[in-house]
Amino acid sequence: MKNALIFGLTGQDGTYLAKFLLDKGYNVSGTFRRTSHKCFERLEEISIFDKVTTIKADLADYGSIQSAIKKSMPDEIYNLAAQSFVGASFQQPILTSDITGLGVLRILEAVKENTPDAKFYQASSSEMYGNYIGIKNEESPFIPRSPYGVAKVFAHNISNHYREAYNIFACCGILFNHESPLRGLEFVTRKISWTLAEIKLGKQKKLKLGNIYAKRDWGFAGDYVEAMWMMLQQKNPDDYVIATGESHSVEEFLTLATDYAGLGDWHDFVEIDQSVMRPTDIEDLVGDASKAKEKIGWKSKTSFKELVKKMVEHDIEYHKSHSLSF
Ligand code: NDP
Ligand code: GDP
Repeated sequence: MKNALIFGLTGQDGTYLAKFLLDKGYNVSGTFRRTSHKCFERLEEISIFDKVTTIKADLADYGSIQSAIKKSMPDEIYNLAAQSFVGASFQQPILTSDITGLGVLRILEAVKENTPDAKFYQASSSEMYGNYIGIKNEESPFIPRSPYGVAKVFAHNISNHYREAYNIFACCGILFNHESPLRGLEFVTRKISWTLAEIKLGKQKKLKLGNIYAKRDWGFAGDYVEAMWMMLQQKNPDDYVIATGESHSVEEFLTLATDYAGLGDWHDFVEIDQSVMRPTDIEDLVGDASKAKEKIGWKSKTSFKELVKKMVEHDIEYHKSHSLSF
């Protein structure tokens, strides 16, 4: 039985990946941060909390990273931990650089010193491309437009460096946006599906949004975690873009979601909120995942429409069965 260690177990991707690896027969350990409230809702929601080993570790703290690695003795390490919200990175640029950027170097150092043969996956991001116009694949330049994007470029480059300099089996998945019913509530897709469900059930009247013309390449997180695992099963480490190949605007997501929720015309309840606008935003992100398709045989399975429907239906059901929101 192989051992896997997931940094960022409690997040959207950590939860889907843990389920995926458990189904493959892995012994799964994952890290969580100390908080004043419970942080295992996602693992509980898909009923896997009692099947994984949880280890307390923070990417700001080298000792706790090293100890997580020594305790789990992993064959495969997946780093999904990050301050992952672009919007917050403008307000907390130093924290974002420390966790999303330097945190990855802390893990790589701990891997080099303790388990140099372990395979390592780094969660790189389409945010690294910024507003670069043209095909976004593994060869395209990174021109990040947010502190988050800048930190991810550092993490990507340092992972590549450890691969080259120390022979660490490090792979970076350059993932475009991926969503699900487990997505954080501040990301635009989940904010929409969650608030529409509240409006439908009379718990909320307005939905406040920022730049609804921005376009993203949105896939389903459940499909994307499989790509992470596939990368680590190859003979040689490499980097891969993971994307659907089509982009849609926030407005399109909103229109479709409003339709699935049966709420008529979104103009009746949506307000544009200047405070959600970013100092710099990326207008359109669409990825070219041809390399992943050709070399590792991965392709996105869930369509945009299926994704929107899944999220809206989940949140309506959730609000019907919970009187309080978390
Ligand atoms: P989430 O925000 O859902 O999960 C992030 C995880 O990181 C959580 O488990 C969080 O813990 C943990 N974390 C945050 N800060 C620290 C810290 N200081 N020390 C240790 N752990 C920490 O993100 P996703 O699951 O959506 O994304 C997974 C990874 O993929 C992230 O690195 C993200 O940047 C990257 N990515 C995501 C994309 C997407 O569209 N989802 C696209 C491209 C890249 P807690 O639960 O306590 O907050
Ligand atoms: P990101 O691509 O990782 O930044 O994912 P988000 O879901 O946070 O944002 C996607 C796009 O939606 C960005 O261009 C945002 O500016 C835009 N957007 C428009 N309104 C909102 C909003 O209310 N919240 C968020 N998070 N993004 C919004």
